[in-house]
Amino acid sequence: MKIVDSIEALRKWVAEKKANRQTVGFVPTMGFLHEGHMSLVDAAKDRTDAVVMSIFVNPLQFGPTEDLDRYPRNLERDQQMAEARGVDLLFVPSVGEMYPQPVKTVIHVSGVTERLCGASRPGHFDGVATVVCKLFNMVQPDYAFFGQKDAQQVAVIQQMVYDLNLPVEIVPCPIVREKDGLAMSSRNVYLNEEERKQALSLNQALREAEQAYLEGRSPEEVKQLMLQKIQAEPLAEVDYVELLSYPSLEPLECLEGSSFICALAVRFGKTRLIDNLIILNRKGREQHVANDDDRKNTPCYSN
Ligand code: AMP
Repeated sequence: MKIVDSIEALRKWVAEKKANRQTVGFVPTMGFLHEGHMSLVDAAKDRTDAVVMSIFVNPLQFGPTEDLDRYPRNLERDQQMAEARGVDLLFVPSVGEMYPQPVKTVIHVSGVTERLCGASRPGHFDGVATVVCKLFNMVQPDYAFFGQKDAQQVAVIQQMVYDLNLPVEIVPCPIVREKDGLAMSSRNVYLNEEERKQALSLNQALREAEQAYLEGRSPEEVKQLMLQKIQAEPLAEVDYVELLSYPSLEPLECLEGSSFICALAVRFGKTRLIDNLIILNRKGREQHVANDDDRKNTPCYSN
């Protein structure tokens, strides 16, 4: 595995692959890798000839009171994991390499950023869209792989790619969970034993939501059930629990026949966790994939 920290070296490597008619897959991350990230590498290896992973903790997507400074990092371990899984090029730029000057151009995706994390983390998705667009321009991948763990992020990136005609296909990949159901996240290391135990209520609430949906409950009833389950844990502080259409992320009157997401963000102590469940119904999918461009960028499974 080759490791580079300059955009120039990255571009040179990619140009050689493309000159040899190899397809390039891209997995952007913030590092402190786990099986969730590795599943994206597996998907990239299945679909492309040369896999680029980036590790960059992007200051632009953190709010002033968020965890930028204490975000977990372990580059040595990340390098070993990436190499063992078959990443071909690891791109680890410094903040100075990515942002030699404060950016004066920021990408703002409207609509899908209005609710969920877009509402509770102002500016977050501007930072995400801007860095991902920059990385796409540097790597010029044929395919880019994103986890549905960050389902709103997938919707934002798909919207950006569609609106700006970026020549890359976005491949959404399913959420990877610990054996006990907790969604894997670099931030899970912040949790103490008791918080970790109570955080299991998130996945449990999503499973109950799925059951309630199958029983024909309304969005409000499902939401209340989820809230009850999570708020039974004394350390849980709910940021949001919402049921919205997916991928447009708008409020829903009724769940039957539509594609929707149950999304939640909950704090345990200082740690904010997110998780979700996506249900794609055939009717909703047919409505959404009205044309071929949409079809290409639509996730086609439920978690
Ligand atoms: P991060 O390093 O947290 O920015 O995540 C990098 C990529 O890995 C994003 O596309 C995430 O959605 C994805 N990812 C993180 N956790 C998981 C998980 N548990 N399952 C699947 N994908 C994940």
